Amino acid sequence: MNTTDFIQKAFQTHTLTVQELTAILEDDGNKECLFKAADQTRQAYVGDAIHLRALVEFTNICRNNCLYCGLRCENQAVPRFRLTPEEILSLARNAKSYDYKTLVLQGGEDPFFTAPKLAEIVREIHKLGLALTLSVGEFSYEDYKLLKEAGADRYLLRIETADKILYEKLNPGMSFENRIRCLRDLKRLGFETGTGILTGLPGQTLASLARDILFFKEMDADMIGLGPFIPNPQTPLKNAATARLNTSLKVVALTRLLLPDINIPATTAMETIEPDGRLKALQCGANVVMPNIAEGEYKKFYALYPGKFSPEQAPLEYKEYLRKQFTAIGRTISKEFGFRKKAQ
Ligand code: SAH
Ligand code: SF4
Repeated sequence: MNTTDFIQKAFQTHTLTVQELTAILEDDGNKECLFKAADQTRQAYVGDAIHLRALVEFTNICRNNCLYCGLRCENQAVPRFRLTPEEILSLARNAKSYDYKTLVLQGGEDPFFTAPKLAEIVREIHKLGLALTLSVGEFSYEDYKLLKEAGADRYLLRIETADKILYEKLNPGMSFENRIRCLRDLKRLGFETGTGILTGLPGQTLASLARDILFFKEMDADMIGLGPFIPNPQTPLKNAATARLNTSLKVVALTRLLLPDINIPATTAMETIEPDGRLKALQCGANVVMPNIAEGEYKKFYALYPGKFSPEQAPLEYKEYLRKQFTAIGRTISKEFGFRKKAQ
C-alpha cells in the first residue's frame, strides 16, 4: 500500500490511523494528490465561499512565558501596548461598517482584561450584530461562562502541540492538563471551539503531528488554526530553524480530510514565510481568512514572530484586494456568519 491508497481512504471515510497519517506526512512525493483530495473535500463540505473574520490584536501584554513567542513576559525588547475598551469598540464598529460578519479579539493573557472587563466589551460588540470570536488564553469555567453569557460565540485556544512533554517544555509554568480542561469547558459551554498547533517546533516529529491531527478529530474541534513556527530573535528559541510551509500545508490538508465540515483559516504565519502561502492554504483545505483591521502604529508591536505579515493597504482597500485574489482562484467572499454546519 502506498500513500495514494491512504489518501483515498481518508477522502472516502475521513479516518486514518496514526501510522497512515505519519506515512503521508513523510511522503513528499505525493503532496499534489493530497492537496487535490483536500481541496475537493473542502468544496464538497464547505463550498467555495471564504469566510472573512476581522482581526483585532488588542493587547500585547502577557503574563505567560511561552518559549516561542515574542510577547512572552520576559521579553523586554518589545514595547507594550493595550487598547482601551473604547478603542476596541471603535474598531468593532469599523469592522461592521466594512461589512465583516465576525470580529476576532486576540491578545496576550493581560491581567487588566479580567473576564468581567472583557464581558462588558463583549456585550457591546454583540449589540452591533457581529459574531464574536475570542482568543485570550486560559480562564476558569466560571469566567468562560461569563464571556459566553455576554454574547461571545467562538473561542480559539491552540493546544500548540498535543505532546504533553513537549508542551510543558515550551510553555514553562503552564500545564497541559489545564489547557485540555479549558478546551473541554469551552465546548461544554457551547462555544464554537477552535484549537490548533505550531508545526515545525524544535523537538517535534512527524509522528507527533499525526497525533495532533487525531487530537483535533477526537475533540471534534469546530475550527483548526495552525501555522509554521517562526523563530523570534527576542526569545530563547532564536537559533531554532524556521518551519517549512509545506509541512503546515500538509497538516491543513489532512485536517480537512479528517474533519471535512470544520472551518480552517489560512493563517498569517503561512503568509509570512511565503508571499502566496495563504493562497496555497486556501487551495489545500482552508476556507477562512482573518485580515487584521487595526490601523495604529502600535500594530507592529504585536510581534509574536519577526516579519509578521500585515496588510499595507487601508482595511477596505485590502478587502477589495482579497476579493480579487479569491476570484482568481474561483472563490468568493461569504455573506454569512460562517458557523460550522455539521455534516450528518
Ligand atoms: N495568548 C493567546 C493568543 C495569542 S498568541 C494564546 O496563546 O492562546 C496566538 C498564537 O500565536 C499562539 O497560539 C501561537 O501558536 C502563535 N505563535 C506564537 N509565537 C509564534 C511563533 N514564533 N511562530 C509562529 N506562531 C507563533
Ligand atoms: Fe502569551 Fe499567547 Fe504568546 Fe504564550 S503564545 S506568551 S500565552 S501571547
